[in-house]
Amino acid sequence: MITIDGSMGEGGGQVLRSSLSLSAITGESIRIHNIRANRKRPGLMRQHLTACLATQEICNGDVTGAEVGSDEISLRPGNVRAGAYRFSVGTAGSTSLVLQTVLPILLQADGPSTVVISGGTHNPSSPPFDFLDACYFPALRAIGHKVTARLNSYGFYPAGGGEIEIDIEPAAETTAFVLEDRGEEMSRSLEAVLSNLPGNIAERELDNAGPALDVPEDNRHIRSRGSAGPGNVLFARLKFENVTALLTQFGERNVSAEQVANRLSKSVKTLLASNAAVTEHLADQLLLPMVLAKGGSFSTLSPSFHTKTNVEVISKFVDCQVGFTEANGAYQCDVNV
Ligand code: AMP
Repeated sequence: MITIDGSMGEGGGQVLRSSLSLSAITGESIRIHNIRANRKRPGLMRQHLTACLATQEICNGDVTGAEVGSDEISLRPGNVRAGAYRFSVGTAGSTSLVLQTVLPILLQADGPSTVVISGGTHNPSSPPFDFLDACYFPALRAIGHKVTARLNSYGFYPAGGGEIEIDIEPAAETTAFVLEDRGEEMSRSLEAVLSNLPGNIAERELDNAGPALDVPEDNRHIRSRGSAGPGNVLFARLKFENVTALLTQFGERNVSAEQVANRLSKSVKTLLASNAAVTEHLADQLLLPMVLAKGGSFSTLSPSFHTKTNVEVISKFVDCQVGFTEANGAYQCDVNV
């Protein structure tokens, strides 16, 4: 039995999610206490509860304490089964974060799986579906896994009502993930996605971020999408020779379209000023699939608290070394297993 203090490091949902995945994969029972202790509303929210129950189902395990608000759970895992799964968050909680719990588990199964998850597909502080599609899944494919995904319907926070569907075929043999040089920048585009909100919001976002980031007018796009409630997100897509980066800024109540554009422009400029191939968010999300395959190395921005915490959690289950060294306008991350 491995005991995890959910308040370790960054103390958020990722401690719970990585622990659930690794318990199911390694067959080690876990007890996690102080779940999400460092968050405004600690304990299990619907999204985390769904991740617990989904893990239990996939690994034929026993979970105790799985209730909304619970600050402690335990999992005794059984055998992982590939299959066709359907999970519903029941609120606008993030489908992508539920997926990031179950996907590493199903990548270790002995056959293909299909997973359909309903809830939020575009939530602040979570990977939007577009990021999974543009950045996370290509990295998994580079490791050797076959992963294809569809966004069946948009679900913006707080209304939710979206759905994602993923086909997963684990690699027969994995390869190390190596991405040290992003290569030359090939193209740069902006996408302002709007649902049930006035079109001028998207126009103002593009009118500000476009010139600030030197994005040609032909590469500035407005996409109106139907969904259950209002929502707005601004993406910057930077295609380099060896990798695509997708940076995101969500529109929020009481934050002007100009501020949304400024915040996105700032993060794009930070990436461009570095030599990093892997963005901050992709870095923390890549560690688990890399450790469960053949490791590897990548260049990234200064490791976030999320990333450092994830290293700490993973090290409790798997014998691995993850190191960061500053070099050449970026940080080099080496993962040895
Ligand atoms: P936590 O806050 O512990 O629940 O973890 C949130 C997860 O969402 C982390 O893996 C972050 O890297 C990821 N995340 C947050 N914002 C974004 C974003 N804009 N793009 C991609 N991933 C994100």
